[in-house]
Amino acid sequence: MNSVPNLQQLFTEYNQTYFAEQIIPSLDFILRFSNTEKFAGWFTYCPETHEDWTITVARRLKDHPRALRSTLVHEMIHMLAHQRFRETADEYYLDLLPQADQPFINKGHGAFFFSEMNRLNRLFPELGLTIISCFGDALYEVEKIPPARLLVVSINKALGKGMIYRLHENAPIDWETLQSTAHLLHDSRDISVIQVAGPLAEGFPYLRKDNLPRANMKRLSLRNFVPTLNKLRADSNTVYQLKPAQTKPYYSQSPFSQARAG
Ligand SMILES: [Zn+2]
Repeated sequence: MNSVPNLQQLFTEYNQTYFAEQIIPSLDFILRFSNTEKFAGWFTYCPETHEDWTITVARRLKDHPRALRSTLVHEMIHMLAHQRFRETADEYYLDLLPQADQPFINKGHGAFFFSEMNRLNRLFPELGLTIISCFGDALYEVEKIPPARLLVVSINKALGKGMIYRLHENAPIDWETLQSTAHLLHDSRDISVIQVAGPLAEGFPYLRKDNLPRANMKRLSLRNFVPTLNKLRADSNTVYQLKPAQTKPYYSQSPFSQARAG
């Protein structure tokens, strides 16, 4: 229990269970974890020979065996596609272009990918294979997703304009820096910090560990800022971290009626 899953072992097991051992990895193929927060997993291959290079899986999936399985099997379908192409030179397997009357999401996710994905989902519904993985969905162990802190910046109260950023998990709550970050990005020092259940914190851009903006961070405001914020505030796990001027750092009872929309 609680040991880091062995990707090589899982690969071998899934190749048996789901692919009848048809997948034969190229010689230098490697499986690895990465610290990415953006993707669940991805597959790389040599663009000239279509030999397999890597399957990379987000390290945070190691606490979520069902999501890890779904991700790895998804990437293994890509691997099978390139193997079939190497065997047949038939570009059909690469899903480069839409085929008539066949589903096509983007390069790599077309007729062949869907046929394999649908076959596996039919035979093994527990796989829950999808094209786009959504961290925190039904395949995840929700209780194992740690809560996350969000910086809420009110940009224009009258227009309901604002932006939400995710704090790095090890970042301090440092009001001065957070305010100057808000000012730098949005000409506003009107900020608050809330802590929300992990799955609700997905999709917001991360600030740096020192709470400064990342390089090339765009000055975007959030579409549906007010409804999004209200949804976060309405969640029973949401904890308020009060405004800089106030003394108590945390508020466990959510002061909804007094709360501003940003
Ligand atoms: Zn894919």
